[in-house]
Amino acid sequence: MSKQVQAPNFYNTVENFFAKAAPYTGLDAGLLHQIKVCNSIYAIQFPVEITNKQTGKQEVKVIEAYRVQHSHHRLPTKGGIRYAPDVDQHEVMALATLMSYKCAIVHVPFGGAKGGVKINPKDFTEEELERITRRYTYELVRRNFIGPSIDVPAPDYGTGGREMAWIYDTYRTLRENEIDAAGCVTGKPVALYGIQGRTEATGRGVFYGLREACDNAEDMKRLKLKPGLGGKTMIIQGMGNVGSYSGTICQDEGGVKVIGVGEWDGAIYLESGIDVNKLLKVKQETGSITNYPGAKVFPKEDTNKILEMPCDILVPAALENQIHEGNAKNIKAKIIAEAANGPITSEAEEVLLKKGILIIPDVYLNAGGVTVSYFEWLKNLSHMRFGRMEKRFNQTSQERMLHVIEELTGRKIDPDLLRKVARGADEVDLVRSGLEETMARSYNFVNDFRQRHGIDMRTAAFAYAIKLIGDDYTSLGIFP
Ligand code: NAD
Repeated sequence: MSKQVQAPNFYNTVENFFAKAAPYTGLDAGLLHQIKVCNSIYAIQFPVEITNKQTGKQEVKVIEAYRVQHSHHRLPTKGGIRYAPDVDQHEVMALATLMSYKCAIVHVPFGGAKGGVKINPKDFTEEELERITRRYTYELVRRNFIGPSIDVPAPDYGTGGREMAWIYDTYRTLRENEIDAAGCVTGKPVALYGIQGRTEATGRGVFYGLREACDNAEDMKRLKLKPGLGGKTMIIQGMGNVGSYSGTICQDEGGVKVIGVGEWDGAIYLESGIDVNKLLKVKQETGSITNYPGAKVFPKEDTNKILEMPCDILVPAALENQIHEGNAKNIKAKIIAEAANGPITSEAEEVLLKKGILIIPDVYLNAGGVTVSYFEWLKNLSHMRFGRMEKRFNQTSQERMLHVIEELTGRKIDPDLLRKVARGADEVDLVRSGLEETMARSYNFVNDFRQRHGIDMRTAAFAYAIKLIGDDYTSLGIFP
């Protein structure tokens, strides 16, 4: 970002979006205030022993960390844990707030929360990261800020299944009689009470959401694009969990052509198309996406210029405040798909909307992660894999039906075809189907609200979510 432009605090951006949406909710000022504020904020500083890389000596390092529960209208609260050097209280508050709206939009019965640990994971060994994660979890347990019925973390920027496994193990050690302990955190490895399809879930949700948006003929006509996701060009910023799955799934299942990719150490652009699967291999083998053969390379200091290259769909999938007052006017994409949380500041959004760009907001588009986390939590509470009871039963019923058809028609069905058709669903099939249904249904709810009020998609998504949370409070009443 250029030095002269001071990006607004991420939390202010969320407050501005809230203020813009509030008039469309019909809720009174007091209730709106209650929905807006963060209900509980836990700020922690704890020590860990680390090895000084220069001297090789053990030393104490104080770690700053947070857990914020934005809304208790539904319990447990839910939201990822971020490990990043820029974490601060306001960032975690903003992310927790978005989680409440996100859960409401996809009809997942949780309040919103978020955690943050102010570290750059690259500065620590795996053993040190484990110590930090376990100590952070201990602090959450101590203050009752974690538990299957209280608050359930998940992965976010800088964390993944490995960290979730450490959190679960620490929790169950401290709460040994808790039969539902595995439900204290989601995004766990599949072998450790996780669920098939969780790692890809946010990216897959981005794909389903984008597909819905591109099937909207009216919007596509306005943008002078053909309806449908297939054939559209895409630029992605960030090739981590969300960016890589968004890219591979949109490419392999949606027929999208990825022409640009940005990372922290540089960006690449190739008009004839980048094979995202090959790119991920290059990144893994050489350590950088910039080694992808044949592409124009933007050096580290210019990596964000990739956001300004022409394309149909721009997918920010890294961090917040990436499109701001300083670069909004240069954005040439027709659609911005917010895979990351808060990539556009509220000032930038006004510029982009005036340019006619369609913004598919984070609170809807990246809700695939929390949706599948909800499925994982349900699996943990039921102590059984999805599909275990009915898979064989469904398969046998379908086989019987096909045999009846054979008898009635006197024609034999090819055994290969029979095997393909008569098939019970595995866990991953059910997860993907539940996610697809959720993203399609929620798109329609938000889009209906948008059309009814003649407003932009983010304002509609916020207003729709705030209204649902308001309805909860109205039914619950205020204690005491
Ligand atoms: P991640 O850590 O797996 O990946 C982030 C990637 O962005 C990394 O590869 C990193 O190198 C890259 N990056 C950092 N700075 C960059 C820059 N300036 N330019 C380009 N790339 C840069 O994180 P993630 O889990 O994929 O999260 C990404 C975003 O998606 C965050 O905003 C997060 O809050 C949001 N999100 C994540 C999930 C989830 O399930 N993981 C769910 C919803 C939303």
